[in-house]
Amino acid sequence: MPTKTLKKPKGKPTFTTLSKKTKKNQPIKLTKDNYYSHDTDFQYLSFSVFKDFEKCEAAALAKVKNDWQPTSDPTSLLVGNYVHSYFESQEAHEQFIDENKKEMISSRGKTKGQLKSDYKVADSCIEALSGDDFFKQVYGPGKKEVIVTGEINGRLWKGKIDSLVLDQGYFCDLKTVDDIHKKHWNEADHNWDNFIFTRQYEMQMAIYEELIRQTFDVECEPFIFAVSKQTPPDHEAFHFESDEAQFRMQEAMDHILQNQDRYWRILMGEEKPIGCGHCEYCRKVKKLSGFQDVSALEVY
Ligand SMILES: [Zn+2]
Repeated sequence: MPTKTLKKPKGKPTFTTLSKKTKKNQPIKLTKDNYYSHDTDFQYLSFSVFKDFEKCEAAALAKVKNDWQPTSDPTSLLVGNYVHSYFESQEAHEQFIDENKKEMISSRGKTKGQLKSDYKVADSCIEALSGDDFFKQVYGPGKKEVIVTGEINGRLWKGKIDSLVLDQGYFCDLKTVDDIHKKHWNEADHNWDNFIFTRQYEMQMAIYEELIRQTFDVECEPFIFAVSKQTPPDHEAFHFESDEAQFRMQEAMDHILQNQDRYWRILMGEEKPIGCGHCEYCRKVKKLSGFQDVSALEVY
């Protein structure tokens, strides 16, 4: 149990305005198996899709339509999911290893048959967390991978909670990071920021808080547990209690209200996406239409 007293609901605005359209057209019911399917992305907005739209509308649309996938190294995602599945259940962890062993287990050389080094690091992340009583007490008792849905100003949203402890009014999200204290350049604010604000996790927490309220009618406080992939791993627990943290969560919610309708119309084919002009997707589909003046060449 967290050492501090949990706060009472602050009477924050709720966003439950059920549209007539949604009542008529029942959306797909979300399950463990279809949660990540792109079909459901055309019915529910999510933190990850919203974030993709923020980066580049054209790339985000191509991704949910299965027209294009970014060429990314799957290791970082797999390491994160490996750690998550361990704290979900023994069954989930074994299933994850079984499904991904081709990627995770070395197939040649002296290390043949052993876990690749990245996943040995993941094992040490697991050790660091499971050896910590505070983590075990707070993260442990929660219901894992809980799907929540709700409406934010008429738009349906989905979310998946890593560990939800409804009876004590909190939820936890587990993040694996390179280095908890690494500084990141925040393009929007033009300054250095920590990994939580740079990756807009305050937005994710604000969305989840709202979706939990709508799904279970319970006010829950967000916590983030972070574990680093350093040797040995660092780990830390974060709450969002300060005025600064609360302000940034509210700011993130306002940002959603300002932009979600446009992103939704793009998803529905009612508006054309704008390409950022320089991301992986935009470079791939780029066609020249003439010359630009040399002095107009932008540098970043
Ligand atoms: Zn782009």
